[in-house]
Amino acid sequence: MNRTVILGGGESGVGAAVLARIKGFEVFLSDNGKLSDANRLCLTKYGIPFEEGGHTRDLILNADEIIKSPGIAETVPIMREIRSRNLHVISEIEFAGRYCTAKKICITGSNGKTTTASLIYFLLKNAGLNVGLAGNIGKSYAYQVATERFDYYVLELSSFQLDGMYSFRADIAVLLNITPDHLDRYNYNFDNYVNSKFRITQNMRHDDCFIFCSDDEATVENLKTMALEARMLPLSQTETVGKDGAWLDGDKLVASCGDSEFEIFTDELSLIGRHNVYNSMAAAVTGKILNISNSVIRSSLAGFKGIEHRLEKVRKVGGIEFINDSKATNVNSVWYALESIPGKIVWIAGGTDKGNDYSSLCNFVKEKVRAIVCLGVDNGKILERFRNLTPVIVETRSAREAVEKSFELGEPGDTVLLSPACASFDLFENYEDRGRQFKKAVEELEA
Ligand code: ADP
Repeated sequence: MNRTVILGGGESGVGAAVLARIKGFEVFLSDNGKLSDANRLCLTKYGIPFEEGGHTRDLILNADEIIKSPGIAETVPIMREIRSRNLHVISEIEFAGRYCTAKKICITGSNGKTTTASLIYFLLKNAGLNVGLAGNIGKSYAYQVATERFDYYVLELSSFQLDGMYSFRADIAVLLNITPDHLDRYNYNFDNYVNSKFRITQNMRHDDCFIFCSDDEATVENLKTMALEARMLPLSQTETVGKDGAWLDGDKLVASCGDSEFEIFTDELSLIGRHNVYNSMAAAVTGKILNISNSVIRSSLAGFKGIEHRLEKVRKVGGIEFINDSKATNVNSVWYALESIPGKIVWIAGGTDKGNDYSSLCNFVKEKVRAIVCLGVDNGKILERFRNLTPVIVETRSAREAVEKSFELGEPGDTVLLSPACASFDLFENYEDRGRQFKKAVEELEA
């Protein structure tokens, strides 16, 4: 096998191209859109031929193997053609995994991947381990495998990456939760999406560890249908797991692996909200599996700074707290945001709907939401769902307008929460752009 074609010239595609080049493959990269200057430069530096602004069929269909970027849908014409010819298609993670002997700690779930992967990375670093962080975060896994030597990798894996993984094996796999998301890419079939998430367990052996949330219905239901060899370590906030996993004992989080236990009061955790208790549990159990000392686990869970755009406190103006949760692009993450905030909320929501069912939010809206400020081009679904549940619902078309309107509607002691439940592409470049514009508008408010 020697001709490797890479579809998509973003972070993961360019990383895969560099690794393939270093491993001696004949490489070609093709992107339908435009490459960034940095990526163009990188390909040129490694002498990798590429095209942008379209796909040349003949240069792609003669591949022995295709590495597809996770952002490319199966329905685009070139993918249809590739599939009709039964060409071998993998993801960048599968490719890089072939050349990586480091221990792999892999995190997936509908929500909490970045937070948990970053927290586990922070923990391993604090423990003095030689560890890299990759997947959906920072420099691509393939690029790091090509240029670095780590003993451990913490990998954040999306379902799109998992879809292109076959032989890859995680030493420790973390499945945080499964709730409907990205259904537009899964034929609007939840089971397809669940199966995709469970690919994280494929090839696991009896000495590998599977950390999962036993309070999560879809996870538990699916586990009933499969026989996993891996050691199972459940996380629960509703029952006492007792051994091998994590649970709550009053106001303490307990994590265990074998006979060794770790405990921390939940109010010592640096990340707030019930969802982050699960994320902290996943990190604590990983720490126990890797024999990291309890004092390092404690200081890491208490000292982690959190990440931008995830329940990020921006500023208090006129007694009103502004929180940027722009990364909340599905209903479940908004559920946890609304749940974790005490007092009344002015909720900024909306954007590109991904097939959302808002019913689980109705009670929160009735009880806690003072007003809804829609921030999207088409707010029809939100208006229809919540019109009768909240006294005020208005529409806005820019972050500034949304912030000013929310400031007007809020009262001292309230929280203005940007937690959109939707993707951002109708009005913004991406969720980071939305979050930054929100923060800028908040900074510019006059008290
Ligand atoms: P991901 O990388 O899976 O998108 P992030 O860590 O970026 O997850 O968080 C995305 C959103 O989900 C944020 O709004 C965050 O507050 C929320 N969130 C984080 N962890 C969880 C969890 N375990 N369950 C539900 N929501 C979560």
